[in-house]
Amino acid sequence: MHNPLLQKFNTQYTTAPFSKIKNKHFKPAFKKAIEQATVEIDKIAENKDDPTFENTIEALDFSGYTLDRISSIFFNLNSAETNDEIQKIAQDVSPWLSEFSNDIRLNQQLFKRVKSLYDDQKSLDLAIEQKTLLDKKYKSFTRNGANLNDNDKVKLREIDKELSTLSLKFGENVLAETNAFELQITNESQLKGLPEGAKEAAHLLAMEKGKKGWIFTLDYPSYIPFMTYVEDRVLREKLAKSFGSRAFQNNKNNNQQIVLNIVKLRHKRANLLGYKTHAHFVLEERMAETPENVLSFSNDLLAKAKPAAKKEFKQLSSFALKDGIEKLQKWDGAYYSEKLKKELFDLDQEALKPYFKLENVIDGIFIIANKLFDLQFTEVDNIDKYHKEVKTYEVTNSNGDFNSIFYADFFPRKGKRNGAWMTSYKSQWIKNGENSRPHVSIVCNFTKPTETKPSLLTFNEVTTVFHEFGHALHGMLANTTYPSLSGTSVYWDFVELPSQLLENWCYEKEALDLFAKHFESNESIPMEMVQKIKDSSNFLEGMQTLRQLSFGLLDMSWHGQNPLSIKNVKDFETNVFEETRLYPKVAENCMSTSFSHIFQGGYSSGYYSYKWAEVLDADAFEYFKETGIFNKETANKLTKNVLSQGGTEKPMVLYKRFRGKEPNADALIKRAGLKNKN
Ligand SMILES: [Zn+2]
Repeated sequence: MHNPLLQKFNTQYTTAPFSKIKNKHFKPAFKKAIEQATVEIDKIAENKDDPTFENTIEALDFSGYTLDRISSIFFNLNSAETNDEIQKIAQDVSPWLSEFSNDIRLNQQLFKRVKSLYDDQKSLDLAIEQKTLLDKKYKSFTRNGANLNDNDKVKLREIDKELSTLSLKFGENVLAETNAFELQITNESQLKGLPEGAKEAAHLLAMEKGKKGWIFTLDYPSYIPFMTYVEDRVLREKLAKSFGSRAFQNNKNNNQQIVLNIVKLRHKRANLLGYKTHAHFVLEERMAETPENVLSFSNDLLAKAKPAAKKEFKQLSSFALKDGIEKLQKWDGAYYSEKLKKELFDLDQEALKPYFKLENVIDGIFIIANKLFDLQFTEVDNIDKYHKEVKTYEVTNSNGDFNSIFYADFFPRKGKRNGAWMTSYKSQWIKNGENSRPHVSIVCNFTKPTETKPSLLTFNEVTTVFHEFGHALHGMLANTTYPSLSGTSVYWDFVELPSQLLENWCYEKEALDLFAKHFESNESIPMEMVQKIKDSSNFLEGMQTLRQLSFGLLDMSWHGQNPLSIKNVKDFETNVFEETRLYPKVAENCMSTSFSHIFQGGYSSGYYSYKWAEVLDADAFEYFKETGIFNKETANKLTKNVLSQGGTEKPMVLYKRFRGKEPNADALIKRAGLKNKN
């Protein structure tokens, strides 16, 4: 069968030949590409010549090219333009892919070659990027037990198996508890305060279930509006307590023992691999490097944010007191925050939208990218795309050289998952003197234009597109030799720096003047409006900071110390929360038993990185504020030391080279307006 996925992509810049690809092509292509990649790997492992960096490490990094291209096309489509058939294929090929990567990780012959190079690296005279690649390849084996004796290898596999069962069970319990709850309201007056849209959704849900009135659940789209708007305090309390006691009740879905088992097994696994704790194991491949650094970072930020948080809490409490609330409780937080915010700012999101016509915003982003990074975007129609709504651009450098292909897919449709993300169809690398440029894509779900109205973005959507474009720049400006170190292939707590950094331009008059013009009158956005956006974005920021820090500290406490003596989940958690607590304790609630981020998904010892990334982006933007937000020299330094460098060196080294110093929380404290409150 002729399979376009297995031919050399005969397109300009070898872009993906979407129009020729049919669903039936994927499985045979995956099969064949895995076979090819396996042959390549075996050739490296069985090479009779002594291992060299080139014949082993470099060869490994450039192996499996066809498989990578097919995977990126397929999985990107599975997110942006999927259907039942594609989802079925994903289920079928995912085990093939994990088997393939397991086979590599467990290939002893291959590891022997990698290890001999790693042990002998002093004599190899490697460049920094090569050293990083060697280290990365070596760790990909050892972090999975390659250095263990056979007995310990068996132990490790057993722990891994047990851990994956426990995580699965943890998630199932949370889901079961979430699904088991529903609140049925038949008296409409109890829903006073709730916006029409949320009410309508609750009514539809009731109808779906063949019930009367309105039904609310513990799913976010139902739960959040209820907690934010419903006036009835008793109902809010009921819903909040049900939410907070998921998997913490006396029934078969209780996760307490599972939490203890997970943290103990993770600790055992880390010890077996030679790490002090699970957090030490995870953070080895993070910018933060150690739990000690995370703790000192968190405590520093806590000390700086706490006075402001306490003041805000007092302000919120006295605001609620006017309503007769003597003691502000957790279930009052969202409700009175929303009310107070409205009273203080009265920011009408709808009034902002006419200033943010999608086309204007995109033009603005391109102008900013041009001013800062000399990139030029030209829309082209000769590039194959997976949907007619996708826009394609050829990106060039200031001297007219080809830089990259940029795909932009803005509107929701059936078959696209929610949210917004950046991805790529081809990474960048340098081989045989050729710098092969990347194909980068952003996918969003913005309000569609109608026959009479263009697509007008909310301010939140504006920051979202800047965010994703920041990731895209990280991809476009990549300039590394090895594909696995290129672009956004950086440590997880460093990857949000370019994206969050770019969001800062949305709040600057100098930047907004370039594009935020009323779509009918062409008038620039009034400065009072911009100031209002800024002020309201900092609203109750101290309390928010404490909340985020509390989750990060809980995560680090579970994973950054020996957990063997922990007996009681709730007591442990209460103790950890003591320093960040603002609201009265709720005895029947527990956070850990439904903390899916760290016990179900792969983000354990990683929750701190939300705030970490904010500290980084505020600190980096401060440099632009000091030198001018369109200062070429500062932007060049960013490109040279960060954006073009991918994961070729440790993030802190790259960052310091750009900034001239280590990041600290001062800029964030200032930007968030927490300083004045102290
Ligand atoms: Zn992001």
